[in-house]
Formats: sequence, C-alpha cells, structure tokens
Amino acid sequence: MDSAIRARLEAAGYTYLGQENKGRYCHGMVTLCTDLPAMRFLREEYLLRIFFNAKVRKGHAFTYSELKPMTGAKSAESASRLYAQLHWLAGRQILLRGYSLHCPVCDLDVWYDLASVGEFTTCQGCRSAIQLPLEAAFSFRLNQLFIEGMKQGAATVLLTALRLYESSPAAFVWQSGVRAKKHGQETEIDLVALCGERLVVAECKDNFEDDTALHDQLRRTTDVARDIDATEFIFASLREGELEAIQALRGIEALTRWSRALLLRGESSV
Ligand SMILES: [Zn+2]
Repeated sequence: MDSAIRARLEAAGYTYLGQENKGRYCHGMVTLCTDLPAMRFLREEYLLRIFFNAKVRKGHAFTYSELKPMTGAKSAESASRLYAQLHWLAGRQILLRGYSLHCPVCDLDVWYDLASVGEFTTCQGCRSAIQLPLEAAFSFRLNQLFIEGMKQGAATVLLTALRLYESSPAAFVWQSGVRAKKHGQETEIDLVALCGERLVVAECKDNFEDDTALHDQLRRTTDVARDIDATEFIFASLREGELEAIQALRGIEALTRWSRALLLRGESSV
C-alpha cells in the first residue's frame, strides 16, 4: 500500500484492511510487464478480443492460426500488426508457448509448457513417456495471472490507471483493490491514484448493468471519495456505448466537474 494513499484514508477515519485479490492481480500483471506504460497493449481491440474470449479465459491453448480469426484482424496490415503484438506478448510470457500432446497410452490430451517438453515428455496422467510427434504446432495459453486478473476486471482498472498515469507521468502512485472500513461499513475501491496533487478515486467495470447493485457500489465509493477529499471521481468502463455509462453515473448524481464517466473502449492503440 502506498503510504501517501493510506495516510489520506486514515486521516479521514478509515481503517485500511488490505488489498483484495483483484488489486494484487493488477499489480502482479504490471510487474510481469515491467511497468504501467507497458500495459498500453490493453488498448488494442484485437488483443482485448483474445483476453475476453471465454475459452482463452478457461485456459485453453490456441495456435497462432486459431488466435488470428478470434481478433477480427483481416487486412494484411492488421495481420502483421497482430503478429508483432502476439510476438511481444509471448516474449513477455503473457502468452505462454507450448504444445498440446496426446498420450497414446491413456488417451489424455494435455497442454505442456515449452520448458517442460523434451524429445520425451512425462504424461501428466499415466506418467508414461510421450515422444514428440515429428510435426507439431506451437500453441499459446494465457498466463494464469492474466486469466485470474482478467476474470476479475483488471483490464478496466489497468487502462484507467494508465490513462491517469499519462496525465501525470512524473508524479504518479496508484493502488487498486483497496479495502477500507469506517463505522462498520467496508468498501472496496477499484483504484485510488495520486496524480501529482490530484487524488483520484475510480470505480472500474469491464461491463455493467445499470441496476441497484451498481448504484449501491457507486454510492459507497463516492462516499469514500468525498470523505478523503478526492479531487475527482471516475466511473470507468470498457462497455461500448456512451449513453449507458453516463446513465449509470447519473444514478448517483448529476455529472459535475468532480465526477465523470470514462469510456476506455476505442482509445488509440499501441
Ligand atoms: Zn498418459
């Protein structure tokens, strides 16, 4: 926990309860990629389609030829751009390279990380030695940290943090998944960031329904934002369609200079 952010919470009478999983995943994902600016690849619509694919999120492995149609990249230019991006993701170990191998003894099909494969590989089922076929295509599986993080909405949190970082690169600290408690009420805040002198609190949703649960969550988070004298409150989403996002924010108050909806989809790409 950044001490300056924690101090702002405690000065307003909150007890800091730690970081929820989503927050830890977000920071771990950034560590894997080196730093927050490296997360710009999340702005690429092609890659978001891969990260949001249900089978990718279940840990299924895909060859490059299988990944390509998932992204909708059709022109030669977009295909070569996608190729470079996937190459980069493999280099960062965000996409792990390996082989899907079939065991002729127990019939199990399992994906094996490149590092665990040799001419003979021990079957994860019956433990027999499987010899590699003469021809096999690499397939790629999403890093488990990314699987868990993406399932919990890390893409929106990281894109929001990135946007705020770009507004104040010289003095930026952030914390995601902050759990704070006051008067017996616990609140989880997706993102708290200090951008120079500005203190920003954000609620981040990949997608949302404009319903009571969302309004309750927004009410709790904006209460904390006011208590800690935040400069700004942001409701950020990857959902397409501006109207819906603004309607959700209107559920708690009129749009003011203090609060705004941030629609991250369709931002300029890497
Ligand atoms: Zn086997």
